[in-house]
Amino acid sequence: MCIRLFTALLVCLLFFPSLLQGWGFFAHRRINRLAVFSLPPEMLVFYKPQLEFLSTHATDPDKRRYALAAEGPRHYIDIDHYGSPPFDSLPRSWEAAVARYTEDTLQQHGILPWHIQRMMYRLTCAFREKDAGRILQLSAELGHYLADAHVPLHASSNHNGQLSGQQGIHALWESRIPELIADKEFNYWNGRAMYISDVAMYSWELVISSAIAADTVLRLEKALSQRFPPAQRYAWEKRNGKLTRNYAAAYSLAYHRLMNNMVERRMRSAIIAVASCWYTAWVDAGQPPLQDLARKPFSPEQERQFKALNKAWTKRPSAGP
Ligand SMILES: [Zn+2]
Repeated sequence: MCIRLFTALLVCLLFFPSLLQGWGFFAHRRINRLAVFSLPPEMLVFYKPQLEFLSTHATDPDKRRYALAAEGPRHYIDIDHYGSPPFDSLPRSWEAAVARYTEDTLQQHGILPWHIQRMMYRLTCAFREKDAGRILQLSAELGHYLADAHVPLHASSNHNGQLSGQQGIHALWESRIPELIADKEFNYWNGRAMYISDVAMYSWELVISSAIAADTVLRLEKALSQRFPPAQRYAWEKRNGKLTRNYAAAYSLAYHRLMNNMVERRMRSAIIAVASCWYTAWVDAGQPPLQDLARKPFSPEQERQFKALNKAWTKRPSAGP
């Protein structure tokens, strides 16, 4: 049984190499980059010259998952473990939830909404201290967690369809579809960032709306797979010089249309959420002027961390020779 499980996992990883990421790296980078354009001019003056940093480092939290065990639970919440919508049995405050379920249980089923609140607190402090390097690093990483909160399968215990015979659906939804069509078809413009008056409540609204959508994500793929024989569902493609098995483009597009463009809606919503949280942290810090902050703001310690993270990422076990 163990060997069979191991083989199944190995096959999954070989066939779907992006399985362990949040939104695929592509979408995470796009979301952070596009969020910048919804900021007010007082923030744009600081964020726009850092577009490259904010998009490249959008994926740092996923890279860290390979190096730090505590990182994994920050990216999801299996909220269905606690009942059904609106999940009233799960206290929204961390202390009350720990008292009710123990910290081990919370960590086991994911802590995403609480982690968003913690990152907002840290970003607000960084604005107050006018610490340009921390502002950028925390903005990039907060953007990642907010984007994850918009992925329905990050709020479901059936996160890769493993409970319903739909293994691979995670990467199909959050990597394959955006990579295939986002830049060609999605309308990315969202309007201006908005102030969020209750960040805690907002973070719960995000994951609950994702959890509610998870049922549609799973049900529609199941129905579609019954209309496509396996030979039409998958295709071999060259990716980074390697032949890789992936969902066929026609199948991915049919799935996207069947969900009534849900991936586009969730991605747009993620972009405005990221911009709004950056904006809210800045407002809560008293709107410090940003135009004079350093252009090369990173401390030697941050530079060392960025390098170490990339090194750990390129040497991760699944990276191959
Ligand atoms: Zn993630």
